[in-house]
Amino acid sequence: MLQKKFEKVVLENYPVALDTRDTSIRYLGQLQNGHDIDVSKILMATSLCSDDINIPSTSFFSVVWGPFFLGGLGGLPYAGLTGMTAFAHHIPDNGTAFIFYGPHIGVTLENEVGRMYRPGQEKGGACCGALMLALERFQDDLYVPKLSQKDYQQSYLESLLYPRREEILADTSPQRKITECTFELIDKMLHEYLREVKDEFKVDKIGLLGGIVINTDFGIDDYFSVRNFEVISTKYL
Ligand SMILES: [Zn+2]
Repeated sequence: MLQKKFEKVVLENYPVALDTRDTSIRYLGQLQNGHDIDVSKILMATSLCSDDINIPSTSFFSVVWGPFFLGGLGGLPYAGLTGMTAFAHHIPDNGTAFIFYGPHIGVTLENEVGRMYRPGQEKGGACCGALMLALERFQDDLYVPKLSQKDYQQSYLESLLYPRREEILADTSPQRKITECTFELIDKMLHEYLREVKDEFKVDKIGLLGGIVINTDFGIDDYFSVRNFEVISTKYL
């Protein structure tokens, strides 16, 4: 019942979203049947936000190995070229690389977007915290992000999003917009890194599944709104 109520809110904001279970079934199925990939030899990397709330969405029924964590705050692949190279070196012989990536956003039953009720907490809070903090700071006209060694991930995330500040603030849902912009950043960075270290992959295929993770409530499935699914041949990178 509660799941159905959440689904209504999720689909209002993300009409093509599937719950985590259906996402796993659909895309593992496509890798196996559509691309002739042995899922028992897949090593997964993730580029998702550090937030603990994302852990359950990434299980893929535990049929794949991993994950190798490429991501940090907001989901950007902070592990960089060295991280991508290490991931490439860890894939089983004759196996396949698979990268699951994207930012995340909470929703509440009251249709608040960018917020959620966390396990064990009575009050709702921001989700994704990093993106909602960036958004709050961007609302101050005088704010300009500055790279900080002590707050490297957040300051880097903000500096990459800052050029799109006006577009984000002008949107009917700045919370959704900043999340989409972050997806585009992660997607671009991952493709760049893959091209740069392609020779490190000793496998033929790299599967990519990217989109927006939508966090609901404790005990209720999360959802995923796909933005990119592709299987790249390492020969054509
Ligand atoms: Zn987050």
